[in-house]
Amino acid sequence: MKAIVLLGAPGAGKGTTAEAVKGRTAFLHVSTGDMLRRAVKNGTDLGRRAESYMKQGELVPDELMTQLIDERLVKEGPEALYVFDGYPRTVNQAEQLEQSLERHGGRLDRVFLLDAPRPVLIERLTGRRICRQCGRNYHVVNVPPAKDGVCDACGGELYQRSDDTEDTIVNRLEVYERQTHSLIARYEAQGLLVRVDAGQQADRMAADVMAELPE
Ligand code: AMP
Repeated sequence: MKAIVLLGAPGAGKGTTAEAVKGRTAFLHVSTGDMLRRAVKNGTDLGRRAESYMKQGELVPDELMTQLIDERLVKEGPEALYVFDGYPRTVNQAEQLEQSLERHGGRLDRVFLLDAPRPVLIERLTGRRICRQCGRNYHVVNVPPAKDGVCDACGGELYQRSDDTEDTIVNRLEVYERQTHSLIARYEAQGLLVRVDAGQQADRMAADVMAELPE
């Protein structure tokens, strides 16, 4: 087992970078945001409990998140390689993740901090559009589809996430500062942190991460 974490504020490019790594390696992309959105869409018990937090840009309670991650580790088995995107987001989650990985015979190998200035984050989030069918990400200005509202890859309909609205974005950035930012010091002290300039273009950011993947 190998495990890396992509740490960074909403809009830093964690999902895009994780998809790029997944496309070129055997790493699995574990996005807790995607897993939760699927649970909401499918109307599962977890989805019903998580939905109101997500709508407001608040964090879903830690115990639900730990359960979600543990189930995923069990499902993928001890040989898997993981890119965690959007997890952990609290000190408690970071501790839980360390314990979960240990139970599965692994440990955290590296943490990439994707660091971008606030105006860049806001601009990326407000312009983000996603394909309903294949999940590919676009941006109305920076990465527009060839045809308005239609996915280049699969022809699916593009939509805007319900939490990518101005008010919720401001709250999500505050929640990041309040609850997640302190993880930077933790991982730095553990010697795991690699800083990546997340203000640059997606392919260069992915290249920076690829160059520092654990052997
Ligand atoms: P994301 O797609 O990573 O921006 O996550 C979307 C929303 O899902 C967040 O605003 C939270 O409400 C919830 N969420 C995702 N990951 C976590 C996590 N690790 N802990 C708590 N809530 C989370």
